[in-house]
Amino acid sequence: MRHAFPGGTPALDFPGTLRFRHRPEPREDLDSPADLSIWFREAGITEADIPVGTADLRRALALREAVYPLILAAMADREYDPDALALVNHHAAGPTPVPRLTPTGRRVDATVDQALAHVARDVVAALSGPDVVLFKECGNPECSQVFIDRSRGARREWCAMDPCGNKIKAAAYRARKRAGTHGITGRSR
Ligand SMILES: [Zn+2]
Repeated sequence: MRHAFPGGTPALDFPGTLRFRHRPEPREDLDSPADLSIWFREAGITEADIPVGTADLRRALALREAVYPLILAAMADREYDPDALALVNHHAAGPTPVPRLTPTGRRVDATVDQALAHVARDVVAALSGPDVVLFKECGNPECSQVFIDRSRGARREWCAMDPCGNKIKAAAYRARKRAGTHGITGRSR
């Protein structure tokens, strides 16, 4: 898989394609139209790669950047930005991909707009549904991935162990080790 899907639903994974938003320079996973086509397929929205143009990518990124603040607003119980809301609802109003059962499996006919409509409808469902209270941001301070924490006792801390959990655990280990060595720094040379 080229892309990561730790969110639990496309509504959270799609904004997650701009990774590490808390860094001065976030990491863009949708650098090219092909990246978006692969994302749709890996997200299970399409079955095969679909043609994506640069204008399509621009529309997708505009939708993505409207979705992210809506998620934050939902988590903080703040009012939604009306422009972001309008854009999501505009996409959600469009037709969605058409799946067909075939003798060998599944075929999905989809345009980029249909695939985006699928994402936008998932945003509508996710942000208006019961899972909002389970939304949690990754414990890595640089990472902005929001995920649905379905773990027992809501104890999940990271979007994924690799890299976020490992990174924080390694930092904690180094801190412990430093603290530990302080005790023996006084030894004679
Ligand atoms: Zn993370």
